[in-house]
Amino acid sequence: MVKVTLIPGDGIGPEVAYATRDVIDATGAQIEWEEVNAGETVYKEKGTFIPDELIESINKNRIAFKGPITTPVGKGFKSINVTLRQKYKTYANVRPVKSIPGVKSPFNNIDLVIMRENTEDLYAGIEHEVTEGVTEAIKVITEEASTKIAEFAFKYAIENGRKKVTAVHKANIMKITDGLFIRCARKVAEKYPQIEYEEVIVDNMCMQLVMYPEKYDVLVLPNLYGDIVSDLCAGLVGGLGLVPGANIGDDIGIFEAVHGSAPDIAGQNLANPIACILSGAMLLDYIGEKEKAQMVRKAVWAVMEEGKVKTRDLGGTASTKEITAEICRQISLQK
Ligand code: NAD
Repeated sequence: MVKVTLIPGDGIGPEVAYATRDVIDATGAQIEWEEVNAGETVYKEKGTFIPDELIESINKNRIAFKGPITTPVGKGFKSINVTLRQKYKTYANVRPVKSIPGVKSPFNNIDLVIMRENTEDLYAGIEHEVTEGVTEAIKVITEEASTKIAEFAFKYAIENGRKKVTAVHKANIMKITDGLFIRCARKVAEKYPQIEYEEVIVDNMCMQLVMYPEKYDVLVLPNLYGDIVSDLCAGLVGGLGLVPGANIGDDIGIFEAVHGSAPDIAGQNLANPIACILSGAMLLDYIGEKEKAQMVRKAVWAVMEEGKVKTRDLGGTASTKEITAEICRQISLQK
């Protein structure tokens, strides 16, 4: 039995996190879920966003599955997501973006992976008011974190049969910070001559991605560009309801979808659970249950290809619960 901390989260979080738990359980994977919540919901009950029980649970289990957590805008405290990523040094945020059959989108041939540095950059949250009407944020880029994410990207490329790594930056303007980021990436690239390496400036990257996304394979980016480019890429394959993610550190994995808590549709049984469910498949891969991970992906693909059960974001009318049940049914057919 592998113990996994389950954080339901806020907004649509519980709906999609429980859907994922049900799908993973349907594969027969030997997982014991230890549920401890964090976020706005917990704050209202306990006066803290990250309760001690959660820290204890993650410290012990080293694997967590997380629903999205709401971060109120501009209220002067740091995002819970960012806090967890920094606390557990999950330096790599891995986001595979792949076209799914049966999903209406401008492209059907996308298969790329975003490697977003996950601990620093403007996301370090170091900002202050200099004087009234003047504010300042500090962009932190270190050799250590930049080298680690580049190493991670190249190792991933080798282990997963990928051919090319593209480092994304704005070093023409951010000469010192992004300059360091690409110097580190270049140095790492020299150790992997079998993988093609290229550099693209982030604004051009956005245009390239919306015109020729099939040209890209593994993208490695500093935190903020990674955040923005992830949503852009999600849009290319049918939206945020479909793109999974994992926060990986040296001995820890926290799995969560790219999307947020979607307050506009929360509690209505409307959310698409596929992004979370595919993050669950990444969790299964991480714990070595590769066959069960494939079962989950195959089931999702089958449901999408058939096209009868789709949530509203994909033009269908199915509820979160209906599509979850259909994915579980597809898993049972594979047994
Ligand atoms: P969001 O991703 O929650 O929603 C953006 C749009 O996509 C909304 O229209 C929403 O309805 C839709 N959407 C998102 N996920 C969907 C799904 N699974 N199925 C169907 N539609 C879906 O982004 P936002 O509105 O900018 O952020 C809401 C909150 O989530 C904010 O507090 C933000 O800070 C937080 N957030 C958390 C995480 C995280 O926990 N990892 C990530 C991003 C945003």
